[in-house]
Amino acid sequence: MLQSTQFKHIPPRLFERATAGTITHADALYLFNECEPLELFALADRLRRVTCGNRVTYVLNRNINFTNRCIGSCKFCAFREDDGYLLSTDEIMGKVREAVDIGVSEICIQGGLLEDAETEDYSTILHSIKSEFPHLHLHAYSPMEVSHLAANSRITIKRALLKLKECGLGSMPGTAAEILSKRVREEICPEKLSAREWIEVVETAHRTGIPTTATMMYGHIETVEERIEHLITIREIQKRTGGFTEFVPLPFLPGGNQLGERLCMENGFECINGTNDLKVHAIARIILHTHINNIQVSWVKLGVRLAQIALHCGASDLGGTLMEERISKSAGATSGEYLTPSQLNNIIRHTGRKPATRDTLYRTITPQFE
Ligand code: SF4
Repeated sequence: MLQSTQFKHIPPRLFERATAGTITHADALYLFNECEPLELFALADRLRRVTCGNRVTYVLNRNINFTNRCIGSCKFCAFREDDGYLLSTDEIMGKVREAVDIGVSEICIQGGLLEDAETEDYSTILHSIKSEFPHLHLHAYSPMEVSHLAANSRITIKRALLKLKECGLGSMPGTAAEILSKRVREEICPEKLSAREWIEVVETAHRTGIPTTATMMYGHIETVEERIEHLITIREIQKRTGGFTEFVPLPFLPGGNQLGERLCMENGFECINGTNDLKVHAIARIILHTHINNIQVSWVKLGVRLAQIALHCGASDLGGTLMEERISKSAGATSGEYLTPSQLNNIIRHTGRKPATRDTLYRTITPQFE
């Protein structure tokens, strides 16, 4: 049983609100800025244990970034290239077949924004995969991509989502959230969909029966207050729709992009701050407690060693096997693009926890005994 007396620096009332899933903005600010970090981590770890027990989950999946051409202009992006690649449906199917051969249950598809892409084009990709492999779960297209497709096709977000669902879309990545703040978005991605539009796409998806993940890209120009506001916004959406399956903190990677170059040149910008990474995972667990059960740590972005520590600071899921990951790699991530199930199992066991595979929606969780 959780007891507030085990935490010297956490007032009993705040502790009660944390265990009830009702901590306030001021509580979170205190925990992040003033509380002893080890107590913050311990509280997040306790809440994780109450919700997820001793297991650490991951999904057998393959990422396919089908194009890096994009008409967007996000300043943190190292992925887009004007003369980049665009995979044909045959090439995509080749990658899907390779993934099926090693037993994946999920294909994750995302790409840049093609100038003339319409809902029909993206539906065709889904339909081709589902026709050959009906058992695969398709986790595809960010709220930004859906918004772009709907506008190009001159249809509502809801109609675009229904069409994608009809062709096999099972769930969506909640990327493109970055920080849900007007101030931050105007500076780092002024042409991207607004915070209000991101929320609209996500809530419409949830109400259309398409679950999504939720993300936050942190560690650039945002303040701690803005991070907390972002997390509370996610919590409020979840109260309204119940459609988020997990929350994934994504550290900003400064390599090869305009924002990274600018920040690295400015005095005081610290790209590497592992304590900060751990605090973000911990505060996410605490703010979202009782609302979103699964907090994912990205081994691609944090590296395997720091990801293992994050599993002691509130995280309960290690993401997926991936097989291929171009977006983080182009921004300087060096942790590789593929971990086998056996490697993931060992990484998890070394933390003293029990590995388990899951499906995308966490409906089936299978302990790994090998
Ligand atoms: S982050 Fe996405 S939308 Fe923005 S420029 Fe990069 S690929 Fe385009």
